[in-house]
Formats: sequence, structure tokens, C-alpha cells
Amino acid sequence: MKTTTVDVPEHEQVIQFEDAASGLSGFIAIHSTQLGPAAGGVRMRPYGHRTEALNDALRLSRGMTYKNAAANLPLGGGKAVIIGDPSSDKSPALLRAFGRAVESLAGRYWTAEDMGMTPEDMAAIGTETRFVAGLADGEFASGDPSPVTARGIFNAIRTTARHRFGTADLAGKTVSVQGLGHVGYHLCRFLHGAGAKLIVTDIDAEQVARVAAEFSAMPVAPDAIYGAEADIFAPCAIGAILNETSIPLLKVGAVAGGANNQLATDADGQRLHQRGILYAPDFVANGGGIINVATEILRISNREEWVAGKLEALDRTMDRILARAITQSVSPNDVAEAIVHEILQQEAA
Ligand code: NAD
Repeated sequence: MKTTTVDVPEHEQVIQFEDAASGLSGFIAIHSTQLGPAAGGVRMRPYGHRTEALNDALRLSRGMTYKNAAANLPLGGGKAVIIGDPSSDKSPALLRAFGRAVESLAGRYWTAEDMGMTPEDMAAIGTETRFVAGLADGEFASGDPSPVTARGIFNAIRTTARHRFGTADLAGKTVSVQGLGHVGYHLCRFLHGAGAKLIVTDIDAEQVARVAAEFSAMPVAPDAIYGAEADIFAPCAIGAILNETSIPLLKVGAVAGGANNQLATDADGQRLHQRGILYAPDFVANGGGIINVATEILRISNREEWVAGKLEALDRTMDRILARAITQSVSPNDVAEAIVHEILQQEAA
């Protein structure tokens, strides 16, 4: 295993790792450990070029600093990327070699699942390092984070509705949901329980049929979700779906959902603002996922109580962001970033 330091301004530490024997190649980026050890998943993708992989690690690790700070967790921001196709290049030897790369940072970085990784992979990585979460078994194993993520998004939708429509009561309100996977399914369950009407879509017809049957949801074609008339749009599938093409089509008063990196560019936050659509910043709305993982990293024994407290605090942060955005007539995304900087500055003082 060969590790080399990559010098990057703004990041505390970035390492490149290579293991010829297993074919492992990639980066671990530690953006900040100001609030605690850097935590963020490992993503495996067939990146076209090394620079593309490095840039992804840098962007995602910075995002984790923001997400962890907004969720009021004693964790910093980090992320790892492995270059390769998870369906053909992954092997036990490669995962163990990655575990050694994580261990070499002596706890400054904690890894967990991200795209292309499974709980079984985390177990293989865990044979070489203690600094791994997202395990399926073990005393503090946190399991599938999506119900907690969906609960946090549901809270965000209620808070957004209160700011936009004057009431957090979702009875009779229409919510359009894009993506009915782990997060979207549970979100629909909560929304249906609160009396909301649902318009839903997914590229997987089975998921659509299941949610339509269980929650009396109205299905639409994937492309039709942007033009669907609703009170709130909840993106729960892929990133960059709020862009210069989709935003003019929206017929909603607010957007609040769980997908990561919903805004294609910062300008799209402005675009939503100019259209009078209140946007709940995704890295705050979906913080339930990392709160769930944090129970494993921090070895929390009163898990349910602790998670409930963190979700409440997350909701208060969302409330503060939206209130300030409305008062100052600015994009909530800009306010969310400013609030994270305030949290980091307070900690540094
Ligand atoms: P998932 O893979 O279980 O579900 C995603 C769903 O979106 C799938 O059913 C897929 O068919 C559908 N989809 C993909 N492209 C689509 C499109 N163009 N139109 C409509 N549907 C489409 O993933 P998930 O765990 O539910 O995560 C959803 C989003 O939330 C992702 O952006 C993820 O990064 C983010 N997120 C998830 C968690 C978590 O706890 N799982 C935590 C934080 C953030």
C-alpha cells in the first residue's frame, strides 16, 4: 500500500492511496476536523480520470463538513473515493486494502457506505480498521438510515409548509415525490399518515405501484413530476434536478426533499428564490442519515432518545434558516451556508 499526500488548499489533509496487489486506487479527503473526527462515506465509481475522482472527494468532503455541522454533530467532514466499477472491480482484498488506508489516518477519518458500497463491504473494511460505520451487525450497528432520514425530511416539509403557507398541518396539502426508494418510500408513509395527498414518480414501475397502492398516491411519468401541480415538491432520487430547465416548470410553493445536491448550481438557489419557491436546503433536510450513522461512530447507548433530540435540533436549525431567508429576502441555501460558518466560527472561538 502506497499513500501519498496531496496538497490542496482549504482541506486539512488529502491522501492518495494505491495498492497494486488488489488494484485499489483512490483518495481520502479530510476537509475539516474542527468539530470532531471527519466522517463521510466511501464512494466507488468508474471515474474517467484521477482528477475527476479527486474533485469528487474534495466536493463531497466539504459537503460533509456542512451537513455534520448543520446536524449539530461533533463530527467533521471527510469522504473517500475508490476508482473502479463496483460490480466488477470490487474484491475482498481491495476492501481490506482500503481498510488499511483508513486505519493509516488513526481515527481522523471515519468511513461508511455511499454509492457502490454495501453493509457487507463495510464488514470487510472493518477487518482492517476500527474507524468504519454502517455495519449490519455489532453492539452499536446503526442499520438502514433511511427511516431516520425520512423522518428528518418529513419534519423539514412541515417546517417549510409553516413558513410558506402559515401552517405545518399537511392534511389536504399535496406533496409531489420524486424517487420512491429507501428514503422516498418512508417519506410517503409519513406524509400519508399526516393526511397529505401524494403525486409520485420513479423510474422503477414496481416502486410506483407499491406506493400508489399503499398510500393512495397518484403516479405520474418521471418527466411529468416537474410540472405537477402541488404545494411542495420533495426530490428523493438523484442530484442536480433543480436546474435552469426544471425550475421554470415547477408549479409548487416550496421544495423540500432528501436527495443530495439538488441544486445543479448555486444560481439555481437564486432561480428558485426569484420564482418565490421556498427551498429547504438539502444538506439540512437530509441530516437524519448522518445522525443515524453518528450513533455508531459515537457509540450512543440511549439511541432513540439521542436521535429524537438531534432531529429536533435539526428542525430548529431549518426553522432558523427559513426565517432568516424570508426576513432578508435571500436564498435559504445562502443562509444555510452562512449559519454553518457561524457554527464553525463559534467552535473556533
Ligand atoms: P435509493 O436508491 O433507495 O432510491 C432512489 C430511487 O430513485 C430509486 O427507486 C430509483 O429508481 C429512483 N430514481 C432514480 N432516478 C430517477 C429519476 N430520474 N426519476 C425518478 N426516480 C428516479 O436511494 P435512497 O437511499 O432512497 O436515497 C435517495 C436520495 O437521498 C439520494 O440522493 C441519496 O443520496 C439521498 N440520501 C439518502 C440517505 C439515506 O438515508 N438513504 C441519507 C441522506 C441522503
